Amino acid sequence: MAQHFLSSSTYRDFTIDMIYGMSDKDIHDLFCRLRWGSQTHQACPGCGAWDNHYVLPNRQQWRCKACRRQFSVTSATMFASHKKSLRTIAILAFYFVTSVKGVAGVHLCRLSNYSNKGANIMIGKFREALMRSQDLRPLAGTVHIDGGYFGGKPRKPNRRGRRNNQLIADRISGNATGRRKPWHATGTTRSNWERRVKDRRVVMTLRETGDIGKGAVRSISVVALAESGPVVTELIRRYVSPCATIMTDENTAYAMVSATNDHFTVNHQVEWSTPEGVNENQAESYFSRLRRWEYGIGHGIRKTYLADLSCEMAWREDVRRRTIGQKFEELLTKGLTTGYSRWWRGYYQGKHRGTEILMNEGLDQATS
Ligand SMILES: [Zn+2]
Repeated sequence: MAQHFLSSSTYRDFTIDMIYGMSDKDIHDLFCRLRWGSQTHQACPGCGAWDNHYVLPNRQQWRCKACRRQFSVTSATMFASHKKSLRTIAILAFYFVTSVKGVAGVHLCRLSNYSNKGANIMIGKFREALMRSQDLRPLAGTVHIDGGYFGGKPRKPNRRGRRNNQLIADRISGNATGRRKPWHATGTTRSNWERRVKDRRVVMTLRETGDIGKGAVRSISVVALAESGPVVTELIRRYVSPCATIMTDENTAYAMVSATNDHFTVNHQVEWSTPEGVNENQAESYFSRLRRWEYGIGHGIRKTYLADLSCEMAWREDVRRRTIGQKFEELLTKGLTTGYSRWWRGYYQGKHRGTEILMNEGLDQATS
């Protein structure tokens, strides 16, 4: 049997040794190449002039020939005003892309001698760069759509016993719909029980599939309040081409899909895929990665940054067949070309976003 791509040496084309082996100048040249695609010319972040600007070698900066402004390779990027070296940023990016289902900030801070808070901010900036630069053109071909519920799990009740078993089962499956039960019958407090409704969110994923056997090629994921008809209709209007074929499960939220697109369903109470090949397994595959992040990395999901996280996982799914070097360069390029961080600059000074992002709205808002 042929060797799996992820086990091959082709995949491991870039290693942590290579980062440590680079001189400071090599790292700086790498960042210049990823930002401007050139070692000799730079675009001034102030006036946009593309030129071979005056070099200030001792400061690793340039002075613009047009507007005289001084700038560095990280000016007006996600990494602006960085306190740690470019090498540390490269190391963080390396561990971010080589982790299978995400990396915890507390783990990253041990690997790279960064503070816990600083490492978490850097992860937030990586996610922000991925989110702002995602490709939101309409999906075509065959598109799998599904929703998964995340967050809002009640804490485990203090008292053990048979009547709590359902609550625990609901916590594990994330499925709390359909079984309406008075909160006092669950052996927990009212406020704890109501977390299910208040803090739970649905991640809707839309994935365009590639050739048979190759999995999905492009994914869009959005956080919504519920997996409902209006949400599904809006998402299809925005992100799916009218000529695409849509495959979903038999949830009633998808009842109106056939009004705009070819629509096939699979009954998940019977099977994962029909004999004709109707399935939405690419959406399930995405949820499996996000769910594993919850179980193994984050140990819990909060609604505030759920949209950022779901977007990170969509990116991980989409680049899963690229080499480490390609992923590393793509992540840093996005960080260097999507402008200032609007959500993480000033985090140390108390500027927190605080609000969640629903239906991809408010992407352009900065923290206040
Ligand atoms: Zn300038």
